[in-house]
Amino acid sequence: MKVRILGANGGIGAQARTTSILVDGDILIDAGTGVGDLTLAELRAIDHVFLTHSHLDHLVMLPFMLDTVGASRGRPVRVYAQEATLAALRRHLFNGELWPDFSRLPTPDAPFMTYQALPPGSELTLNRRRIRSIPVNHVVPAVGYLLSGARGSLAFSGDTSTTEEFWKVLNATGDLRHVIIETSFVDADAELSRISKHLCPAMLADELKKLKPGPRVHITHLMPDEEDAIMDEIARHVPSDTPRRIERGQVFEL
Ligand SMILES: [Zn+2]
Ligand SMILES: [Zn+2]
Repeated sequence: MKVRILGANGGIGAQARTTSILVDGDILIDAGTGVGDLTLAELRAIDHVFLTHSHLDHLVMLPFMLDTVGASRGRPVRVYAQEATLAALRRHLFNGELWPDFSRLPTPDAPFMTYQALPPGSELTLNRRRIRSIPVNHVVPAVGYLLSGARGSLAFSGDTSTTEEFWKVLNATGDLRHVIIETSFVDADAELSRISKHLCPAMLADELKKLKPGPRVHITHLMPDEEDAIMDEIARHVPSDTPRRIERGQVFEL
């Protein structure tokens, strides 16, 4: 399993891209602005899209991706998420006003996309790659994903504040090698982190105490103009085995 980071920023501008992860070329975890860097052939090869939650920075490229390659693919893209997230897509995005309803177009029999409800905590296997959704704690219903290949597992938090279930699942995963977790703001924005249900470095440090030692921890979703300050604060809170910032283009082999 090859996991490639397409976008890992909490905003846009210059080199920043919002959340998206490509797995083996055919699976996308979230569809933030990083998807826009893919070639047409790469876009066309994506058969499965797993969404963490309904916020735009995690799915804004999905409508453009379907519009761009839907007709030339010949089969629908499967969009997996929990029911609340799918309901938001139906109601607010693919509603015939903001964007066409590609779950029924160009024809109901051969649409560009299909909705696949994936209850939090459920797992499915696609060609020997296991994908498990894990409920997390955000202002809208949200999950993280545990990706497992032949050579280990990688966990991705999506957007979350403090959480128990995520760490429980990770600690029960014997071959866990990497954890990608968000830290959106600096400690001075602890109140903003609390009300928007994200993490700041002090909160991250407390969360990491719940994780059994072993896996390498990587930080994602940093606000573009605060990245260095956030990472400096993380280094102060977590002086040994300090998490690293995830980089666009980074690849994990699992
Ligand atoms: Zn969010
Ligand atoms: Zn986000």
